Amino acid sequence: MIRKLKADVVIAGSGAGGSAVAGELVAAGLTVVVLEAGPQRFSPLGTHVRTVFSSEADLSRVGDVIYGEMLTNPSMAAEPLKNIRDLRVSHHTGGMFSLWMGNCPRPDASELPDWMPVADWEPYFDKASRLMHIDLQGGGSGQMFETLLGRVQSTLGHRAKGREVRPMPVAARRVDGVFKICSSDDLFFRDSPSPNNLTILPDTIATEVLVSGGRAVGLRGVDRLNPAEEIEVSADVVVVAGGTVGSPKLLANSALDHRPALGAYIHEHACIGSRVTLIPEIRALIRDDEPVYSIWIPASGEKPWQNQLCRFTLSSGGGRLAPGIREVDSSDIFTFVKIDVRPENRFHFDPIRKDPFGLPDVTASYALSRADRLRIGQAMAEHFLIASDVGEVEPGWTPTLYAAGGSTHFMGSCRMGAEDDGTSVVDRFGRLWGYEGVFVADNSVIGTPNSGNPTFTTVAQCLRTAERILLS
Ligand SMILES: Cc1cc2nc3c(=O)[nH]c(=O)nc-3n(C[C@H](O)[C@H](O)[C@H](O)COP(=O)(O)OP(=O)(O)OC[C@H]3O[C@@H](n4cnc5c(N)ncnc54)[C@H](O)[C@@H]3O)c2cc1C
Repeated sequence: MIRKLKADVVIAGSGAGGSAVAGELVAAGLTVVVLEAGPQRFSPLGTHVRTVFSSEADLSRVGDVIYGEMLTNPSMAAEPLKNIRDLRVSHHTGGMFSLWMGNCPRPDASELPDWMPVADWEPYFDKASRLMHIDLQGGGSGQMFETLLGRVQSTLGHRAKGREVRPMPVAARRVDGVFKICSSDDLFFRDSPSPNNLTILPDTIATEVLVSGGRAVGLRGVDRLNPAEEIEVSADVVVVAGGTVGSPKLLANSALDHRPALGAYIHEHACIGSRVTLIPEIRALIRDDEPVYSIWIPASGEKPWQNQLCRFTLSSGGGRLAPGIREVDSSDIFTFVKIDVRPENRFHFDPIRKDPFGLPDVTASYALSRADRLRIGQAMAEHFLIASDVGEVEPGWTPTLYAAGGSTHFMGSCRMGAEDDGTSVVDRFGRLWGYEGVFVADNSVIGTPNSGNPTFTTVAQCLRTAERILLS
């Protein structure tokens, strides 16, 4: 049986990209239907995992829930993605955006595409900042935080202008001084809790973008729990927002004339994590109920890696704490190092083998270049400098280089570009080359190497896409 619906715009995926675009279009009065492959986990829609497990005592429980229950192999496959085994995703309403930690570093000019003047991004960053409730001082406050911040500032010395060490901007609110609620896919709703021009269909896998004469005409899907039930949503605009793995799979499964860049140029930032017991001078200032915090050491053109000192729900996993040391006495240190964006790092779509969603099975070719490895080495030196200055490294400090995919920030695969020259999949507004009315809006369009958590940039980019849809 085929269920038929009609909307102005149909969107595949309800994560950061899907909710950012849908929120704009719904607020402008368009009818929007969203197909989401996974179930609705939290009620009401737009709820973040941290709102469900909100007490400070739940910190490690949140990590267990995220890694043990909510992150899955792409398309809920039993096997990890070949060659990028740690590339996991989240299939439920909100996608990874309902699990994220809200860190929102503003990218350096060197991390943005060279085909758009940096100043032109500003209105979109400003709007994303407002919609995501980003607090520039949200990384922390209080005596212990200020002391730790001051120490890191003096250890690292001069940084590039505008890229000084500071509190991490976070999309979160503090309630009674405690970091509580991250902005999530509530981006759908703006000020209206359930707009009647928005329909979100959980457990509905988008399987094919429908086009006619080079124009979008709709999206086909199936009920994940009952694949005999099909759905067809007719619309003049289709937005593909299934994330870096889901979006190219959906496009590859559609009868479209694909550009060679589809699935290519995949990247993340190499991720080094470690945990240190803070030095006694700082430990003496730590309260039993010390709130979570996050210090940002921004990336720049001359130092293309980002460091972060933090205590939040997800530990770096590195290092054991000495006996008698409480968890609040420790700090995690993460370093994200940009890696080169290269065509040979790519997904391969199997035209015959299907995944559990009925989409092409995917494998990957993925490796670090020599330049990447040299950069990781330089970043590692700075990571150690920080660790050994704020922490006690002697009892067996253990940094970890995460396996590929472990950053949870995978990007590329539907690369954005200024020209249809074979190196990109979508134009500078996210429109699929060669088609009217088909857009991609999520992490998959980010095609410039970067070292910062990407979601803020993705949401800003999606606001540009939504604006373009509204103008068309
Ligand atoms: C634990 C954790 C912490 C993080 N912390 C941060 C942070 O602090 N800062 C930061 O910037 N980023 C962070 N991230 C990353 C952030 O969550 C992602 O950058 C962001 O969610 C990506 O948005 P997206 O739209 O590309 O994908 P997602 O948000 O994952 O959304 C994709 C959605 O599409 C759905 N989908 C896929 N295929 C189909 C299909 N065929 N049909 C229908 N639906 C489909 C998926 O089920 C999913 O719901 C974190 C991620 C995790 C897991």
